[in-house]
Amino acid sequence: MRVSILGVTGSIGQSTTDLIACEPERFEVVALTGGRNVARLAQEAVRLNARLAVTAWDECHAELASLLAGTGIETAAGEAALEEAASRPADWVMSAIVGAAGLRPGLAALRQGATLALANKETMVAAGPLVLQTARAHGATILPVDSEHSAVFQLLRGEEMRSVTRVVLTASGGAFRDWPLERLKEATPEEASTHPTWDMGQRITIDSASMFNKALELIEAKELFGLRPEQVEAVIHPQSLVHALVGHADGALLAHMGSHDMRHAIGFALNFPERAPLPVAPLDLVQAGRLDFAAPDPARYPALGLARQVMEAGGLAGAVFNAAKERALDAFLDRQIGFAQMAPVVAQVLDRLIFSRSGGVDSPSLDDVLQADREARSLAGDCALTMR
Ligand code: NAD
Ligand code: MG
Repeated sequence: MRVSILGVTGSIGQSTTDLIACEPERFEVVALTGGRNVARLAQEAVRLNARLAVTAWDECHAELASLLAGTGIETAAGEAALEEAASRPADWVMSAIVGAAGLRPGLAALRQGATLALANKETMVAAGPLVLQTARAHGATILPVDSEHSAVFQLLRGEEMRSVTRVVLTASGGAFRDWPLERLKEATPEEASTHPTWDMGQRITIDSASMFNKALELIEAKELFGLRPEQVEAVIHPQSLVHALVGHADGALLAHMGSHDMRHAIGFALNFPERAPLPVAPLDLVQAGRLDFAAPDPARYPALGLARQVMEAGGLAGAVFNAAKERALDAFLDRQIGFAQMAPVVAQVLDRLIFSRSGGVDSPSLDDVLQADREARSLAGDCALTMR
């Protein structure tokens, strides 16, 4: 099986190589991409005997080329090279770049008809209908890798979609679940970068603390599974052992459980349509002891309310929401704005670019999405300045 990994140097990328390295005879590695961590990119390219290694940044190319000199591994750099890497013929492509930067490479992988293992939720949030339409047009398959969405996908196998009444995604509640609300204003990027249950990249970890991550996931679920906004819900479940639940017309609520290890969802996508043993610890129910569930407090997690509005609005709202969130997160990381100011920044951008405008775009093209993304980032940057 020919595989490529976009974002190989990140948390999901590394979990993917863990699985691939276990079965070297089964996989032929076509392309690997990374960012500034070229040492790790080069190391993985050698370890997995990849044909091509690409860094997203032009200024990192010289170092990558020198690290891989004499290995016969081709190197390249820049946005166009990422897209080209994703379009190299492969059977399975892992989309694990963080942010909207993953959209174009993901689309390129779909256009070549590959199975796209989709960790990059931003792809579905920014351009869900376009992505599904591209997959259909090129006979490509999308397999969700976000743990909740992999769980839903697994729960829906063999089920009739028309009997599905609701989909429930669980959320850990993030780093500040038990903090007094007042204290959130003072939360630092370091404090927001620890997660109670999952070990993930810094950006998604902070998004978990603000629940922007769950907000993105509600939208992702609506797009992936063709649901109505009122059919997707989020519930706090501190143990993160139930990943998602699917409700049916007869009242049955089916749950997917497992230990919190992303190699389960990645491995499921790698072995699909079969199931194969994975190096993941089985869940010990007795040791787990209990499962708790609670409603998310809208005052603590305003991102969830914004996600509802975005799902109702459709069109370019997802692209604007995601881009404004990415820019607000940059501003928080740069200590320009506080933790609790990210949601107001995103709300302002949505108001200006989506809610206060009449007649949005119904089926956005890639250009529409990229344009909305740029506009939203720029406006979010301006809003962040006024928040200080
Ligand atoms: P990460 O920060 O650990 O890794 C991100 C990867 O993307 C790195 O390889 C980095 O070099 C690359 N990258 C960053 N900016 C880039 C750019 N502008 N252009 C090209 N490449 C760039 O992130 P992660 O935690 O592995 O998450 C990756 C994606 O998977 C995100 O969309 C995230 O929401 C999703 N996801 C992650 C987890 C998890 O457990 N980590 C779970 C579910 C979903
Ligand atoms: Mg998730």
